[in-house]
Amino acid sequence: MTEKPSEGIEFISATVHELKTPLTAIITSVELLAEELQPEEGSTEGRLIQSIIRNARSIDERLSQFSEMSRLLVGDLRVQPELIKLQDIIRNVTTQLYPIIEDKKQSLRLELADHLPPVNGDRRYLEQILLNLLTNASKFTSEQGKIKLSAWKDEGEVVVEVKDNGIGIPQGEQERIFNPYYQVSRSGLSRRSSSGLGLTITKFLVELHGGKIWLKSGVGEGSSFFISLPAVLTDESSGNR
Ligand code: ADP
Repeated sequence: MTEKPSEGIEFISATVHELKTPLTAIITSVELLAEELQPEEGSTEGRLIQSIIRNARSIDERLSQFSEMSRLLVGDLRVQPELIKLQDIIRNVTTQLYPIIEDKKQSLRLELADHLPPVNGDRRYLEQILLNLLTNASKFTSEQGKIKLSAWKDEGEVVVEVKDNGIGIPQGEQERIFNPYYQVSRSGLSRRSSSGLGLTITKFLVELHGGKIWLKSGVGEGSSFFISLPAVLTDESSGNR
């Protein structure tokens, strides 16, 4: 019997849900345990507890991305387009990102052009695109590094740039980083918190909105990821940057 794609997706979603439920209980229990024991910083107990929390969260994130990717692959997307001001999306995303940035003592600067035209898109997916790019910018940049998000209008498009001064990406690897599960191999960098699906999903979602994604990067020079999305031009937003 041939299975319909939507049945396959329902099976994957149900399985992911089945796995996430006990995982959430593990994460909550260990976090409570950490609060209860208050292990000293650098102690063996403290390091082990943090390792459990970090790895459990990593599995949780991978499961979400795996589920998301399988939905994208069979075209099972529930897109709810509306007129979106990117400023609002950026505000939400930066609020979510601040704990990660603060944890690494990094700075995040915003440079948004006045009168940025709105775009037509799905709020959740646009947030996810920016969150993926900003999370990567933080992840692949050392402590106290600098991250900048800029947005401007260019002809009939809105362009967003997420720039970091992190480790950069070798020229020869730049096309492949959009392939599923592809990760640049680097010595000394842990892959534990990565799935290698983030940019594949990001590119898919950008193209779903009629946009493009590209990057400029060099080893040791940092990276800039750009996305462009068709602007919805109004009288107010017709001026340039
Ligand atoms: P993940 O971040 O889960 O590994 P992604 O698909 O988001 O997967 O990224 C793929 C790879 O591209 C990463 O493993 C990393 O090697 C590289 N990469 C992505 N963003 C950056 C960045 N801002 N700076 C340096 N390398 C990056």
